Amino acid sequence: MNMKPEQLLNSTPKGLYCPAGDFYVDPVRPVARALITHGHSDHARAGHGAVLATRQTLDIMRIRYGEDFCGKEQAVAFGETVDVNGVTVGFHPAGHVLGSAQISVEMNGLRIVASGDYKRGIDPTCAPFETVPCDVFITEATFGLPVFHHPLPRVEIGKLLTSIKQFPERTHLVGAYSLGKAQRVIRLLRDNGYSDPIYIHGALARLCDYYVSEGIDLGDLRPATLEKSDPSAFKGAIVVGPPSAFQERWARRFNEPLIAFASGWMMVRQRAKQGGVELPLVISDHCDWPELLETIKEISPQAVWVTHGREEALVRWCELQGIAAKPLHLVGYEDEGD
Ligand SMILES: [Zn+2]
Repeated sequence: MNMKPEQLLNSTPKGLYCPAGDFYVDPVRPVARALITHGHSDHARAGHGAVLATRQTLDIMRIRYGEDFCGKEQAVAFGETVDVNGVTVGFHPAGHVLGSAQISVEMNGLRIVASGDYKRGIDPTCAPFETVPCDVFITEATFGLPVFHHPLPRVEIGKLLTSIKQFPERTHLVGAYSLGKAQRVIRLLRDNGYSDPIYIHGALARLCDYYVSEGIDLGDLRPATLEKSDPSAFKGAIVVGPPSAFQERWARRFNEPLIAFASGWMMVRQRAKQGGVELPLVISDHCDWPELLETIKEISPQAVWVTHGREEALVRWCELQGIAAKPLHLVGYEDEGD
C-alpha cells in the first residue's frame, strides 16, 4: 500500500500531527499524546496528556515545569523503537542540547524524520547528531541563509579569554540561554584552559546541576549572589546568566560589567548593538547554512520539509538539487535556545 507522506504527518495549528498514531510532534498547545524532541520551551510545553521523549528531556521538563508537567510519561532510549497505534516511532540524537532527539515516524515502508532543532558541530554537552536514512527529512532553518557561517566555538571562547586578560578589573557577564547554551559555554571555557570558579545566575543552577549529574563536568561553579558579598569580589570574574538578567539592575551592580552574549544571532551586528552587547560571541546550537546543506546531501531524502526559520532559500536550494521541498509554516517556535 502506498502512503503519501502528508497522510503520515501533516501540519496543523497545534503542530505536526500523525493521524494514524494520533500523536503530535512538539505541539504548541496541550494535546492528548505528544512526542517531544527536546526541552526548549517552544518545543516542550507543559499540560499534555501523555509525553514520549528521551529520559533526559523528561527530566528537563520536570525541572522546568514541576512534577505534574504531563499526565503520563514514557522515556524512549536512543535507537529504541516504540509502536504507537501501529506507527513505529524512534528517537535519534540531534546534537542540539542534552537529551535532544530527532524523531522518526514510520508506517508501511515510509519513514519521515522530524529533526527538531539540531547542529553538526562538536559539543561535549550532548550526544552528537546521527544521520537517519529517510524518505522525508523535516528540518529547521533558523540560520537558513547563505550569509550564516558560524565560526569555530573555540575561536569565539578565545575572544572571551583574551578580554579577561585585557580587562582584569571588569566583571565579564556572559548571556547564555539557561538550557544548553549556558552549559556549553561553561564547558568550552573549561576545555580551553579556564579553571577559575565560574559564577552562575540562580536561574541556571538547577539545569547546571542536572548536566553535572548526567556526567558533564562543568568545573567549579558558584552562585553569583551579590546580597552577601561585595561586588568587587567579582572583579575579573566570569558570570554566566540568562540574557534577560543582564537588562536588570542586578547586572549593573557588578564591577564595571562587560556584557558578552553567546548566540548564533551575534552574527548580526545590529542585534548585538541593540542589546548593548560589548562582546558578541557567535556560538550557536543550530546548523549554519553549510551544515544544513551537508546534512541534506548526506541523508539524500526524496523530500525536505522546512519548519521554522528562513524557509525560502533552503527550499529553493533543495529544488535546484532535484529534491522536492516545501515550507511547513508551523507557528509557535521562537528558537529559545539560540
Ligand atoms: Zn531548541
